Amino acid sequence: YRKLLQQLKGRDNVTLDGKHIRLYANIGNIKDLATVIQNDAAGIGLFRSEFIYLERSDFPTEEEQFNIYKTVAQTMAGREVIIRTLDIGADKQCDYFNMDKEDNPAMGCRAIRICLTRPEIFRTQLRALFRAASYGNIAVMYPMITSVREVKRIKEITLQVEDELKAQGIQYAVPKQGIMIETPAAAIISDELAPLVDFFSIGTNDLTQYTLAVDRQNTKLDEFCDVHHPAIMRMIQMVVDNAHKAGIWAGICGELGADTTLTRQFLAMGVDELSVSPARILPIRKIIVETDLSNI
Ligand code: PEP
Ligand code: MG
Repeated sequence: YRKLLQQLKGRDNVTLDGKHIRLYANIGNIKDLATVIQNDAAGIGLFRSEFIYLERSDFPTEEEQFNIYKTVAQTMAGREVIIRTLDIGADKQCDYFNMDKEDNPAMGCRAIRICLTRPEIFRTQLRALFRAASYGNIAVMYPMITSVREVKRIKEITLQVEDELKAQGIQYAVPKQGIMIETPAAAIISDELAPLVDFFSIGTNDLTQYTLAVDRQNTKLDEFCDVHHPAIMRMIQMVVDNAHKAGIWAGICGELGADTTLTRQFLAMGVDELSVSPARILPIRKIIVETDLSNI
């Protein structure tokens, strides 16, 4: 089987009836790039940028971030690299952010909520991302979205960042921008969100936690955490359909995307992208190239 998988390197991620799937890798650190290349990922679907913040004792500067994003973009040599803006809070605490203690951090000030309440942190990251975008195929995605208002506010801030870079004569490019669908609210209003963004990436880890009201950190709840729950599957279908109606693509970057018992079903549902840990790339490619969607 291992040998068989090795033979799949260099093959396109295309079904027998010709649908191209974006089969991308999830990474948390540029050290992971070697395994991304080794496993022949067609791109990076989730670069968890918060690790840049977590491994430091103070905020990473624009220059530090720029160098990291640029390295990823250049290493991937034209392949798409989707960088998620910081997702601090909840299970990922970072002392120098000096966050208030919360009783319920998973439902607290995390991810985009920090970025929108402390825009100076957000702006620094966006400047670094837009600058790095001129060195490769970078896309940006925003985590923990729940409303149209948040997406519009993000748009205002990115337009300001763009104006600023332009006025300063600094080299930049405007990347494609998408959002994570990882709250039930975002899934349910995905018809309203789709026209505002370039793509959707479904974060099934949080979507499951918030939909089933099961703390993803609490292993004692495993028996109540049905990751194949029909509520999740129906939401994924709804999100994909709403994406397609607006002419954008939709993928899955949560753990569920790597579940090979579901790959054929996801393809049949119209999922356009699967972003998984590098070691899962070839097993999923095997299923993609053996699937005939006209015959499901
Ligand atoms: C998710 O929630 O499914 C996801 C991909 O993001 P994270 O696991 O980093 O919260
Ligand atoms: Mg998440």
